[in-house]
Amino acid sequence: MLVTLSACTTNYATPLGEIADPNHEEIAAIRKHTLDSYMVMYNPDTCSAIGAACGFFRTHAYAHYRLNHTLMRPKYYPALNEKQADCYAATYGKPNEIEAAVKLLLDENRDPNLKIHGDPSIRAQNITDCAKQAGNWTKN
Ligand SMILES: [Zn+2]
Repeated sequence: MLVTLSACTTNYATPLGEIADPNHEEIAAIRKHTLDSYMVMYNPDTCSAIGAACGFFRTHAYAHYRLNHTLMRPKYYPALNEKQADCYAATYGKPNEIEAAVKLLLDENRDPNLKIHGDPSIRAQNITDCAKQAGNWTKN
């Protein structure tokens, strides 16, 4: 079977759900699931270890899809895409998850095996700024 997809690879395909995969190496990432659907994969063990912050990273993964980014493995996203996905998640995510993620990013004693991409303090600042701008920051 020969299928030509290149002309119609839009990210505005079927919305998605989530798949828990204990072997997933990232906290969360978005993957192509079927020909026209995408799923957020996440590691449930990592999620139970980091608590509410996990929700933020799942929303971040979903944001790459919503923002029509070319989907790739988390560490390969250009810095601008990362910044945009963080801002999307900070704007539309749940405040407790956003604040937990900022706390985690600023925690120098967090598990060093956590796959955090980019400069954590710059990300924390951008996320805080975006959440405040959106009226989505409940702290002072
Ligand atoms: Zn990302």
